[in-house]
Amino acid sequence: MKSIDNYTFEGKKAIIRVDFNVPLNDDFQITDSTRIDAAIPTIQKILEKGGAVILMSHLGRPKSGPEDKFSLRHLLPYLSEKLAQELKFASDCIGEEAEVMAGSLKPGEVLLLENLRFHKEETKGDEDFAKKLAGLADVYVNDAFGTAHRAHASTAIIAKFFPDDKLFGYIMENEIKNMDKVLEDPQKPFTAILGGAKVSGKVEVIENLIDKVDNLIIGGGMMFTFIKALGGNIGKSLVEKDLIDLANEVIAKAREKGVTLYLPKDAIAAAEFDNNAEAKQTPSHNIPEGWMGVDIGEEAIRTFSDVIKESKTILWNGPMGVFEMPNFAKGTKAIAEAIAEATDQGAYSLVGGGDSVAAIKQMKLADKVSYVSTGGGAMLEYIEGKELPGVVAIKD
Ligand code: AMP
Repeated sequence: MKSIDNYTFEGKKAIIRVDFNVPLNDDFQITDSTRIDAAIPTIQKILEKGGAVILMSHLGRPKSGPEDKFSLRHLLPYLSEKLAQELKFASDCIGEEAEVMAGSLKPGEVLLLENLRFHKEETKGDEDFAKKLAGLADVYVNDAFGTAHRAHASTAIIAKFFPDDKLFGYIMENEIKNMDKVLEDPQKPFTAILGGAKVSGKVEVIENLIDKVDNLIIGGGMMFTFIKALGGNIGKSLVEKDLIDLANEVIAKAREKGVTLYLPKDAIAAAEFDNNAEAKQTPSHNIPEGWMGVDIGEEAIRTFSDVIKESKTILWNGPMGVFEMPNFAKGTKAIAEAIAEATDQGAYSLVGGGDSVAAIKQMKLADKVSYVSTGGGAMLEYIEGKELPGVVAIKD
């Protein structure tokens, strides 16, 4: 692992690709600073080691050129508070101003560059643009795991200009270590729990995991495509008809590989997609006509919890039901609790990918699991077994 811990930063300028894509309200105040907070240890470490820091990030999705609402300038007050120093700011990430400011940066100082995506070359992975960014610094650090699955100028292409001076920041290092722990050398039994709305985004995840896990638990909206494939009546539950064949293949493959596939025996069905709708527990293969499955039932909770508690490695992605509606959050909560309990008994648990992070936070159990990945799309691609451009660029 090319870690910042083993690098001499003294007298050097480090350009760090961070993920400062935080939500802002109408007054440009940060409403969730998690991503910035996560990057602080990397920045501080480099400063402590005698380096100067140049920060680059994207924010939002500017269409063409600069837009004030996507300016990184809005982050300056929060950043100076967090880093306990005034930051310098370049109103364009490349060009003369940035060059002069970077050139005169002293050890211990921090320069923030304006939004990378004000230049369309960023997402295009333009080499010339990457070279200009690279010209500002002596060493490149990537700490933006959330964009590591993109071959953008600042996340991957830039690395080629630092053949011997490219490193992972702490966020990247942690994400990779924790995912490799699950994917490369899991202690058995290894249980994966998949949920969420759709099968479609998770086909490759299932395909890669089926070669590795002992137990595969499927809940959430995606379970109904499987139950339909097995001939069940699913009422008006979510279903992806074009994936029914694939669901059958997964079922067959699990059998062939000796993976135990768990689908919920029962479900909570609601008359409407509404928290206050009439709801009842039914067998999951017998959802009444016109009703929809919105959560897993009591028996499923018991079975899934037992399997989880006997596991040594646990990977969880996707809620078991419509957890945003309190009346249908019970299954997701129970699973989160079972994972927390298993972790307490020595299992290694990794939770991540979009809504599972929101769910585990909502249940206030984020600190009771081994690791919560903030990677979203990048995490899913890693679990699919894909090589992430941002990771490869540093490793090679
Ligand atoms: P994903 O982004 O694929 O992880 O999906 C997360 C979303 O799936 C959440 O917003 C949940 O409300 C939704 N979800 C989970 N179970 C169901 C279900 N049975 N029916 C409809 N939506 C569901």
